[in-house]
Amino acid sequence: MRKVYLDNNATTPLHPEVKQVMMNNLDLFGNASSAHFFGREARDAVEDARKKVAGIINAGPEEIIFTSCGSESNNLVIKGVTCQDVYCKPDAHPGKHIITSQIEHPSVMNPLKTLERQGFKVTWLPVDQYGLVDPDLVKKAISKQTVLITIMTANNEIGTIEPIAEIAKIARENDIYFHTDAVQAVGKLKIDVKELGVDFLSLSGHKLYAPKGVAAVFIRKGIFICPTLQGGHQERGIRGGTENNLGIVALGKACELAMQEREKETKKIWSQRENLRKGIEQRIPEIIINGHPEKVIPNTLSVTFKYIEGESILLRLSAEGIAVSTGSACSTGSLEPSHVLLAIGLPHELAHGTIRFSLGKENTEEDIDYALEVLPRVIKELREMSPLWAKK
Ligand code: PLP
Repeated sequence: MRKVYLDNNATTPLHPEVKQVMMNNLDLFGNASSAHFFGREARDAVEDARKKVAGIINAGPEEIIFTSCGSESNNLVIKGVTCQDVYCKPDAHPGKHIITSQIEHPSVMNPLKTLERQGFKVTWLPVDQYGLVDPDLVKKAISKQTVLITIMTANNEIGTIEPIAEIAKIARENDIYFHTDAVQAVGKLKIDVKELGVDFLSLSGHKLYAPKGVAAVFIRKGIFICPTLQGGHQERGIRGGTENNLGIVALGKACELAMQEREKETKKIWSQRENLRKGIEQRIPEIIINGHPEKVIPNTLSVTFKYIEGESILLRLSAEGIAVSTGSACSTGSLEPSHVLLAIGLPHELAHGTIRFSLGKENTEEDIDYALEVLPRVIKELREMSPLWAKK
């Protein structure tokens, strides 16, 4: 059976060159903190990778902290900035207010909900029908208590790209830290932390053809945040734990490759995404395309198929070799409709009928043709079984 992977926002396969670098470094076992030769060899490899990761977002290597996943990066910033322990941060901001949006990833939302339970006030900004945050609403929400603003660069479910530079400027003018979760943006968009003016930015290896278990966070030079994973002096004392040499080397290589290949790959992926979108629009009635029509990451297409359940579509497509998602990988398995789709105004039943196609560098035109051959039949058959379709 033909296999077509259209779930690259959940995770990407390894880039063949990243895989090769990993194979070449399987024996890089030294502890990067050891002073002997084995340690120095590991340290050199980690520092070389740090430069490459810094390169993809135009940061300095000293501004990169390695972590284990994008979720950890997000948690580290949120908890590290809001920590008011005078032992680790004598100049901690006393404010207890944070601004965010209603469509963030759970790894941003859940630590914020914990902070709410601990007495922080969180402003959950609404988004418009495309999923865009209005910078004016950010400005209006600011108070003397505001210690952090965190808004994602691009949404994982609908792909909408937020006005990050504009929001970061507002944060800077008000002397408030600004964090962006760029896990779905790095590797897909040109990201320059200097142009964006952000203080913190999260990225994750397995969304850009590196393995799982490695990620990073950019922390602007001069800012200190408290560690969440307390331990030794690794990663400038901000993230304890012996460095994951192999993962870090792989992430460095993936970032280097993404810098070289991004423009070319993006054009190809956008053209395939558009062929998929137009093909669906031509062949299948009663659908909604979610997300912004232009301000969208090039690989993501979110489509609502009215009158049927996304889960059934996913399973039927999977049986025909096509891998898609009903939302973010993290909320799959939950019966709750996606908070992102509800936030853009979709009613529950339409949110439940939504599929996310997320393309990657390995997809071909033939993959899209195959999806367009199978999908209309699957939708038609499911609708024929649907009492809602019969009643309409
Ligand atoms: N932020 C966004 C926008 C994501 O899409 C994801 C993963 O899907 C994460 C954070 C979490 O990244 P990780 O899976 O590396 O923890």
